[in-house]
Amino acid sequence: MRIPFVAGNWKMNTTATEAEKLVLEMLEKLDRISGVEKVLCPPFVSLVAVSMMLQGSSIKLGAQNMYFEAKGAYTGEISPLMLRELCEFVILGHSERRWYFGETDEIVNKKVKAALANKLKPILCVGERLEENEAGKTEEVVNRQVTAALNGIEPVVLSIAKNLVIAYEPVWAIGTGKAAGGEQAAATIQFIRDVVAKLWNKSIAQDLRILYGGSVTGANIAEFISHPEIDGALVGGASLKAEEFVSIVEKTAEIKGRKK
Ligand code: PEP
Repeated sequence: MRIPFVAGNWKMNTTATEAEKLVLEMLEKLDRISGVEKVLCPPFVSLVAVSMMLQGSSIKLGAQNMYFEAKGAYTGEISPLMLRELCEFVILGHSERRWYFGETDEIVNKKVKAALANKLKPILCVGERLEENEAGKTEEVVNRQVTAALNGIEPVVLSIAKNLVIAYEPVWAIGTGKAAGGEQAAATIQFIRDVVAKLWNKSIAQDLRILYGGSVTGANIAEFISHPEIDGALVGGASLKAEEFVSIVEKTAEIKGRKK
């Protein structure tokens, strides 16, 4: 049984004051929804305040990025040691990190390893760009990204299915309002599950949560989570609107609950 999962990636939005306001707007309603793991990923500077606000609630906290070293002369970076006092999750390999900040598969792999070693749960993002999609290279790209990111990770020791979430996020669907079709997303997610099965084993692949991300809204979430293959969503823009994010989580709980 995979517990459905919805995370909100606020990206570089909200000041600390705005972040507190946004949490206040959604906290009670979100807290009451059961059957879905709910995660908020505000900017670094709001993590402390948001973590205090979420204490005692069923909502979990995630960071949006992390460096792979524990400490040292890396001006401006944030380490797993700093995050693990505050967060349970960390988004790694987001396409905006890969394409705007030059994060390679090798760097993503180092980050995934460092997160797991420090008891942080990575939300590993993979996905193809528009030209790769149009050239029929989606599977080739996600296969490369998943295999590289998980290279050298010992799944049994880390009980990986509990401590890792993968998000399939086609780059062309992120922030564009052009979400992938539910069928296409489900097919690629099934493919990712097969890649994980080959890399580790079938039982881990079966237990691992794999999300869809890319222009998810309250209006289209049902199209994704009604596929049994899709375990939830990583939500960007729509997670900045309290009512809409709550409605995405509510619909996920309702649809996945019905399918039990
Ligand atoms: C994201 O940032 O991970 C994302 C999916 O963004 P959006 O929902 O805005 O497309």
